Amino acid sequence: MREFDVVVIGAGPAGYVAALRCAQLGLETAVVDEWISPEGKYVLGGTCLNVGCIPSKALLDSSEQFYRLQHHIGTHGISVSDIRLDLSAMISRKNEIVRSLTGGIESLFSKNRIMWLKGHGRLRPEMRIEVTGKGPDAANETVEAKNIVIATGSVPRSLPGILIDGEKIVDSTGALNFSEVPKRLGVIGAGVIGLELGSVWNRLGSEAVLLEATERFLFFADHEIAKAAHEEFSKQGLDIRLGARVLSADTSGEGVKVTYEDNGGTHELEFDKLVMSVGRKPHTDDLNADEVGLLINESGFIHTEGRTCRTNLPGVYAVGDVVGGPMLAHKGSVEGVMVAERIAGQDSRVSYDVIPQVVYTMPEISWVGRTEEELQADGVPYKIGRFQLKYNGRAMAMEETAGMVKVIAHKETDELLGVHILGFMSSEIIAEAVVAMEYKGSAEDLARTVHSHPSLTEAIQEAALSVDDRALHG
Ligand code: FAD
Ligand code: AMP
Repeated sequence: MREFDVVVIGAGPAGYVAALRCAQLGLETAVVDEWISPEGKYVLGGTCLNVGCIPSKALLDSSEQFYRLQHHIGTHGISVSDIRLDLSAMISRKNEIVRSLTGGIESLFSKNRIMWLKGHGRLRPEMRIEVTGKGPDAANETVEAKNIVIATGSVPRSLPGILIDGEKIVDSTGALNFSEVPKRLGVIGAGVIGLELGSVWNRLGSEAVLLEATERFLFFADHEIAKAAHEEFSKQGLDIRLGARVLSADTSGEGVKVTYEDNGGTHELEFDKLVMSVGRKPHTDDLNADEVGLLINESGFIHTEGRTCRTNLPGVYAVGDVVGGPMLAHKGSVEGVMVAERIAGQDSRVSYDVIPQVVYTMPEISWVGRTEEELQADGVPYKIGRFQLKYNGRAMAMEETAGMVKVIAHKETDELLGVHILGFMSSEIIAEAVVAMEYKGSAEDLARTVHSHPSLTEAIQEAALSVDDRALHG
């Protein structure tokens, strides 16, 4: 039986990064993964690369170009005519990006001498992992490990009684691959994924209705920013209905008839396609957790001790979506690095309080740290600085003036507690706030840092100045 220092189960951004770091640290490493591409080949990269972050961003960027050409380019004094959509070319471009990135991980694995065991991994007693795969290049063997890292990720959730048939009712994966633009698109759940996928098809021409059960839009984001975002999205034609609890979906007719209830009663809507995006659940199916005594909590996540990613079994760790916390690729990756370094004997940690979050809408919503509502609930004294992008020169030059920056600092110490941005490319400029908070910076630090002019980041500086009422251009 082959023996490894580390066997990682799952090659998404949590697992493959853990494996790369283990290999860098000189640990003999194998990765088990069962993902099969639409072409029938085993591929690395998990949800993120194959059906998540990357393909969704490819379509978001393509659809944004299409939308801008139709709605924004005229203000620059450019007129274009005969703008046509070649959806199959757009989808092929997306697939090509996925292929290139998943292939890149394969190269990284060979460069770092990581053994890729193709197939399904099951835990067996005495630190063994049984791998069963299909096809000529699959692994069918049991291996032994000194350490095991479980990175089995998550899968889409559905609502009881609503079957994802892959035709009229699809999950997020199906919504990345429509062969034509649905005329009437329904989306259940206006969370991050529902908003992103609803935006893609809305920009390409669908009439999109998003049905969201909660009364508050993006309840986990800063309320003021979420409210401003809701107004922007409504202007783009996204019909977001809050407090709308979907009860059933009937596919027996030509389209999908959806019944939902809100405070006004029960309503029916008919769509051509319906996207189910009511969140994701941890993936621990058929891992054989019970036999080996691996503890799984009541919500289905693998139990880990504190912020260590250690499970209840000695030498067994879990990282990424399969443990609690935000279901984000970069959160899984930093956990992967931490676990690899811990296995190698280092005292590595993750800055869980400084993990950026982004919704890739138009404009993007990005934040790091705590929301105003969370600080209020905890009775933390705070002060706020705001800056509207309509006063920022670069935003004006780009015709991207929608949105604002909100900086929250501790009332007495001035330490940064949260930075929230609604704005063009805020996924990029939020990085400045992340670095500042990682170093326990203050609003004064951001305010005194020199920013290039003209740039969107000046809006962060101005919001930081505004914390003490001294914004220069606001
Ligand atoms: P996964 O990426 O889910 O990978 C798990 C891997 O484990 C898979 O390859 C699976 O095949 C394998 N596996 C599971 N069980 C077994 C087993 N028993 N044996 C062998 N292999 C197994 N996050 C962001 O940060 N930014 C974004 O922009 C973003 N956009 C998203 C868009 C969409 C449409 C979706 C669906 C998700 C998005 N996410 C985004 C979330 C992100 O994809 C996940 O947080 C991330 O992929 C989790 O990584 P992971 O490594 O924990 O698990
Ligand atoms: P996310 O986890 O960010 O993908 O968001 C999933 C969203 O789906 C959340 O905002 C939930 O409130 C929403 N949701 C869950 N169940 C329902 C339902 N029955 N009808 C409408 N929205 C729902």
